[in-house]
Order: sequence, then structure tokens, then C-alpha cells
Amino acid sequence: MHTSYLHGNKLLSGCIVNMKTRKIMYFILEIAFSSPKNYIANLIRAYGEQKQIEVDVLQTTDKIIMTFNKEDEKLETFLLGLEDILPASLFLGKGKHYFSDNKPALMPVSKSNLPVNIAPCPTCQKEMFDVSSRRYYYPFTSCNYCGSQHQFLTKYPYERLHTTMKFLVPCEACKNELNLNALRKDYPLISCIECGIGLRMLDKESEHMALNKGDYRKLFEVAGRAIASGKTLLMKTMHGYRKFFNPNNSDIKHIGLSTLLMARAEGFNTHLMMVEQEFNALLSIERPLLRVATKSDEVKALYGSSVLVKYPDDGLTMLLAKEVVTSGLDYIAYIECDGNEEADFLVDFDMPINTQKDTKVFINQDTKLFVSGERILYPTEVQSNKDRVTVAHDLACVKIDNKSIVDSLGVFDSVDTQELYVLEGEDFEGGHSNEHRFEQYKASMMSVLAEHHKVGQKAIGVHFDGSLHFLYYNGKNVIDAVPPIPFESDNLWDKISTLREGSDRLVENYQKAYPEVWERLDNLKGDMDIFEVTAITLGLEDESFEGISAEALSFLGKGGLQIDTRVKDNRFDNYAFLTSIMSYQLGDVENNFMCYSIYESFGDYIGEIVPQLCDKVGSNIVVLTGETFANQSLYGRIQRTLGQKNPLMNQNFPIGKENAVYGALYL
Ligand SMILES: [Zn+2]
Ligand SMILES: [Zn+2]
Repeated sequence: MHTSYLHGNKLLSGCIVNMKTRKIMYFILEIAFSSPKNYIANLIRAYGEQKQIEVDVLQTTDKIIMTFNKEDEKLETFLLGLEDILPASLFLGKGKHYFSDNKPALMPVSKSNLPVNIAPCPTCQKEMFDVSSRRYYYPFTSCNYCGSQHQFLTKYPYERLHTTMKFLVPCEACKNELNLNALRKDYPLISCIECGIGLRMLDKESEHMALNKGDYRKLFEVAGRAIASGKTLLMKTMHGYRKFFNPNNSDIKHIGLSTLLMARAEGFNTHLMMVEQEFNALLSIERPLLRVATKSDEVKALYGSSVLVKYPDDGLTMLLAKEVVTSGLDYIAYIECDGNEEADFLVDFDMPINTQKDTKVFINQDTKLFVSGERILYPTEVQSNKDRVTVAHDLACVKIDNKSIVDSLGVFDSVDTQELYVLEGEDFEGGHSNEHRFEQYKASMMSVLAEHHKVGQKAIGVHFDGSLHFLYYNGKNVIDAVPPIPFESDNLWDKISTLREGSDRLVENYQKAYPEVWERLDNLKGDMDIFEVTAITLGLEDESFEGISAEALSFLGKGGLQIDTRVKDNRFDNYAFLTSIMSYQLGDVENNFMCYSIYESFGDYIGEIVPQLCDKVGSNIVVLTGETFANQSLYGRIQRTLGQKNPLMNQNFPIGKENAVYGALYL
């Protein structure tokens, strides 16, 4: 048995206890579970059915509770087996068990049948690596509780007829499974090598079609070896086209911008510096993207101080990684691209798929935030008693059979609705007579208040997504209380040289010391955000907010460099900020120290303004939204300056812009 992708569950150890205690009816096992997603609870139910044990599985807002008859003789085998079939999950927490006379009576979360987009579960993985199974090296292996499902959905309700799989007729063995395999009972996407999706591999001269187990295996073997020997491979994965390569043996440019794919879990400790929570997140069945600090010299040489990391997240990537390990590598790398990208080899299949934007997670001690993206979190069901459709960032919230579902626009048919709320700037023509346009920051703030049941109560908000807004919610509307001074990056030097007395001298000195940077900054387009411009100023490879975050992560010192954030009326001034960075640059301050200090200074600024606003409006509710908060130095600083106010952030939605589709329900 191959166990390289399985992650053992330590949740249940210690549960098998002496059952010959007093005359109590029930044995109860509770596991913390911090999401309304149903796939883990449903998997447990299905496993109970498979083992023919009576178990009540109840999912509440923060845990999954299993109630067993204490005398049940199958209990022990069930619990032992559960450890093997249960995947590690971002949402699973600690477990505990006890005996009770009564079944727990708590409010369950709503049960929904929505297609998931996660990695294969332990049972499905075992099948993929079991030579006797019908799915040996079959990358589309999945069950009701795992794998790539959303990719095939064309519309709701989620059934085979509404997926791109509808033209494939299941073979006899698959049909039987629909009744007999508890994990694939009525599974809409059932398939195997016999009846499923064909794969082909192409190089410049030839094309090979995989038709049977041997071919499938061979295809991945050849692909893995090719990468190890320095070739590039373009592969259609369930997350879109990815170009894979060996970063230590290829002439690919800008390796620093690629994602590091750890092919085996053992490589994590050799190459990366991670805390346990980060390790668990990367190996969870949700398989998010995570930025972590580098450790080994070879990975440092490739990526610098930190790198965006991924553990194989779909069947194709997983099978490829397995063969890469066989070829002796701990890791490879990939970039997301389209099907026309140049590469030595191509692995492709004909089935059309919908991909979702991948999801980044941020971890700071025991806090886990979803930074941005659609996968893992969407589709989701939300509570709403309004007859309203919301649209933002290609996502929509639509009522289907009286359930409000948030998902990609493309999977919804047009519906009747009383009102339509569309994000300002969204390219969407609703043609509705009652259409409202809304601002990102307003919807973002409402999404947090709604998640924490604070709608209708006064609150102060900070929205930080490239630019910084201080917001006031008066119980009805969100008001931009301290808007940023608008930033335009064209004619930058004019704006800087007139900022205050002596600024023109700084511009001259800067031109002498950094002529190339000066030139570039002289020719910027007007619509760049302050972080892009800062990254260019500092000469970072990744010219974005990400690049500055990555650089800040490598600073291990104490800080204390004060970067100027304002000139007048307490508002954040982008030009003052850039000027301050340039003067430090002229004073030879190290880049990583500067990047760290940028966030620290923002943290201090926010920490100073928010309490003033709270006092002014008489509220102690503070809300933070926006991707920029997903930064270790800023987040740490905010905890110190605003910790007492317990600032609220999104839990089940991204803190970034994809929370707007939900928040707009409350505008
Ligand atoms: Zn599965
Ligand atoms: Zn089949």
C-alpha cells in the first residue's frame, strides 16, 4: 500500500476505552469542526452505513458529534477504521469522548449537496495506487466526499445530467457501485478507466493515448522521468493547465514566481521552515496554497527567503508527484498557464472543465484565515431571507429551491428576483429594473458583521486591500470615514518633489544613486497601486504586494524603523510614504528590514486611528477586511495595538475581495 499522500489522523487515539462502566446508554465522540461544509460529517455517515453500525452524526456550527450505542460490539472496529478513512482537514480540530444517558440535542447546520473541489480522500487514493483496482492510476478517481467535482458542473441541481460527464455511460462495475459502495452511493460522477475520461500524452513527434491500467501508469512514469531529466511538461490538471518543471534542472526564467510543489511530505522539513499548523494545512485534504519560509540552501537559492508551496491537490498532480519521487526528487515546480504554453511534453484530455481560483491560506499561531480565492470555500450555502441576487468577481449568490447558494456565475441559469446587487465595475449586464451597484469595501465589511451576527450594531471597520480605508457602520450604512488620499502613479516625481521643503533635493539624489529605478518610476502608468510602485522602487522580482510580504518574512530582527505614512489630516499619504522609503534606501537600509517596517508602520497607524474612531462613535466592534492583513508583521502588530478590541475577521469566507458576494446580501 502506498501511504505517501495519506496523513494519519491523531484525533481519535485514546478513544478505545473500557466499555464495562456504569449503566449508561451512549458513547459520544465529538470532533471540533470549524466550517459549514458537510463532506466530513457525510463521509462518517457513509462509513457507518458501510460498517453497519448505528451512529447518529450531528454537525453543529463548531463540531461534529457522533453518538453510538455504548454496547455496540462493532464500536471498536468502527473507531479504528475511522482513523483510516477520515482525511486530515483544515477544519478539523481536537476530539474528545464521553459517556452519556442522553443524546446531545443541538441545532444542526443545514445539509446541502454541493460539489466539492478538494483532493482525493484516503480511500480513493488507495484505489489509485492499488494495481488490482479498476482505478489504478486513474486521475479522476473521486467519491461523494472528495475530489474534483465542481469542475464538471454545468448547472444546478448537481446531478450527472447537469455535468459534462453526462455523455459518458458508466460501465457495469460502476453501475453496481452506485448501489453497493457506501462512499459512491448514487455518486453523480462515477467513472473508472473502463468507462471514464481518456488521457493522452504528446511530444513534438508522437501522441500516445492511455487506454488501460498499464498505459495510465506508463504515461505518468514517462512524465515524471521527463521532468526529472530537465524537460518541461504542460498538463491539463483539474485546476487548469500547469507547466511543471524541475527548478534545479531547467532553463525556465523567473523561477522565483513559480509555485513549489512538494512531491513527498518528508521533504517539508528538509527544505522549509514551518510550524505544525502550516504543515497540517498543507497536507489537509483541502490542499491550500501557503507562503512559507525557506530552509535548505537549494530552495533558498531558487526562491529567496520564502516560497508559495503546494502539496499535490488533484489526481493528475498527485500521480505525477508519485512518479517524480520515484525519479529521486523531493519537489518540482509549476506555473499556472493556458493550453498554448510551450513545453516539451503535453498531457491532455478532452473533457471540458470549469476551474476555480485557487485559495491561499494565512496562518499566524492558532489563527487561520482564507486570504483569497474560490476553491475550498465555494460553492457554499448561506442564510438569506431576501429575494435578492448578488454578483461580484464572477461569483453570484442565487436562490435555488429556497436555498441561497454562492457559486461561479456560469453555473446559474437566469432566475426571477426582486432585486439585483452588482459590484461597482463588474462586467455584468443584468438588465434588471431594480439593479443596485455597490462598493467593495461596504460589502466586505458587511460580510464580516454578518458572519459574526453583528448586523444592525454600530461598528468601525478597516478595509486594507492595496489602499487603506477607515469605515464607520452606523447600523444601517457603511461610510468611508477616513478615505485614502487618491494615488496616481503617473508624473510621480512632480508629486514627490513638491511634497514638502527639501523634497526636490531627495529626487535629485535619488536620480544619481538609482538611475534605472528613477527612469522606470518616471514612466509609470497612472493606475498602479502603492505596493506595486514600492516593489519597483525596492527592485523586487515580484513587483506586487506579495513581493513585499515575501521580503518582510525574511526579516528576523526587532524592527523600529519608522516609515512616514502621513503629512496632514491624519490621512494616509502615498507620496509621503514613498518619499520616506526612498530616503531610507539612500541611507542603505536593507530591503527586508524596510519591508518589515512598512507593515509595522501600517500597524501602528491603524492602531492609533481605530481607537479614536471607536471613541468618537461609541462602539467597540472593530472589523478588519482585505488581503493586505494576511501578512505576518502587519497581523502581529495589529494584535498588539488592537488586540484588546478583539477585531473581527471573516472565518468561512476569504478576507479578500471574494467575500463581497456574501456581504452584499446585507447592504
Ligand atoms: Zn473519496
Ligand atoms: Zn466504470
